[in-house]
Amino acid sequence: MATVTAKNITKFQQTLLNWYDTDGRHFPWRNKRLTQYQIIIAETLLQRTKAETVSKFYTQFIKDFPNWTNLAQADTAAIELYLKPIGLYRQRAKRLKNLALEMVKRKGKLPHDREELESIPFIGQYIANAIELIIHNRPSPLIDVNMSRLLERYFGKRKMADIRYDPYLQKLSYKVVRHSRAKEINWAILDFAALICKAQKPICKFCQLNSTCTYFKKAKNKLYSEGTINSKHSVLT
Ligand code: SF4
Repeated sequence: MATVTAKNITKFQQTLLNWYDTDGRHFPWRNKRLTQYQIIIAETLLQRTKAETVSKFYTQFIKDFPNWTNLAQADTAAIELYLKPIGLYRQRAKRLKNLALEMVKRKGKLPHDREELESIPFIGQYIANAIELIIHNRPSPLIDVNMSRLLERYFGKRKMADIRYDPYLQKLSYKVVRHSRAKEINWAILDFAALICKAQKPICKFCQLNSTCTYFKKAKNKLYSEGTINSKHSVLT
């Protein structure tokens, strides 16, 4: 079982980075030459939405609204058109426009101080972490339901319902992304959670973490004690 030790963290990081280098996904917002505006828009759109869905309209969105000023001056209906396929489009369009108005007021400048950053309306924990990670090059976690699922399955469950306030999960997420390739570790976790450690039917059989995964070990033991499999070494799908 993978307890939270330095050795297990290192194994987790190395396994995921090796996997990511060959099987990771490529999205326009992972391009190194993005502006601050393009990064924040991508991360805002990615909240509660599949990356593949955002990738279908992100490039055109940026072409139509290339900076904070354009977005602040845009018709909310024009923004809504893009957001219709991802749900809650009215709220999200309003939120984006208000964020743009705020950033124009601030002349596009982001504070380095974490408290001040989170005090900007519409920038919550996730976006603040993304800004720290991608813009300020600090090892912050892009922690969402996908990252939390993988971390909890591998290392063990959190206690609190809300990811943002669970001290175990928060601490753990910072530990796993503390690495010289912090961005890639984050992306690797998100990609691995989307493609291998899926919410429904994780592909444990072929998972390179399965020999030390808490979830996998418990699932095997349960099936063994129920007599569903006849060996603790039987491999689950
Ligand atoms: S073994 Fe299964 S549950 Fe564990 S990390 Fe891999 S896919 Fe996820």
